Amino acid sequence: MGRRAAEGMPDPARRAFLRGRARPEPAPLRPPWAAEDFETACTGCGDCLSACPEAILVRGAGGLPEVDFARGECSFCRACVEACSEPAFAPEADPPWHLEVRIGEDCLARRGVLCQSCGDSCPEAAIRFAPLLGAAPQPAVDAEACSGCGACVSACPAEAVAVLAADPASGYRHPAGTKGVAAEVGDG
Ligand code: SF4
Ligand code: SF4
Ligand code: SF4
Repeated sequence: MGRRAAEGMPDPARRAFLRGRARPEPAPLRPPWAAEDFETACTGCGDCLSACPEAILVRGAGGLPEVDFARGECSFCRACVEACSEPAFAPEADPPWHLEVRIGEDCLARRGVLCQSCGDSCPEAAIRFAPLLGAAPQPAVDAEACSGCGACVSACPAEAVAVLAADPASGYRHPAGTKGVAAEVGDG
């Protein structure tokens, strides 16, 4: 339960839900290089789950694999792709995925606490903290530098970082061949 709910305060998601305008659940985060028709091509055999050396793949709804960055980060080793006997993955030349990194309102820095754990964990130095006069430096994600590895998710002591599949309806697309992710430091 979030702080606002715990304190009995109406938070925006609850208000939207009560008004019948609840935000749709984010799309499940499939393994890297998942093909566009992954849901139909994947049989749910689980071979990719056992192949992943980082153990970040779990069974999601319907038994299909999903990435859980709370368990660790993706090294882009492609062991999941190589373990798959179905046409469920795209070639290595394609970008591994289209993701958005979101830092939500539970971020300690946003509450005035000195914390840079997500930035310290990022192998691409994609989360930068600009100094602010009289306030804790605030994180900002460099979408071009970010690979979408997810290391920042488990590093955050406030569980404020989410890496989500980009919403196709938003029109967001990466240029072919890049690994960047969209960044948002906002409501999360
Ligand atoms: S690329 Fe490697 S680390 Fe990433 S999900 Fe696949 S097997 Fe796991
Ligand atoms: S690690 Fe979490 S709490 Fe700390 S600055 Fe990053 S997002 Fe905020
Ligand atoms: S997902 Fe992006 S911002 Fe987070 S640790 Fe990986 S490269 Fe850095």
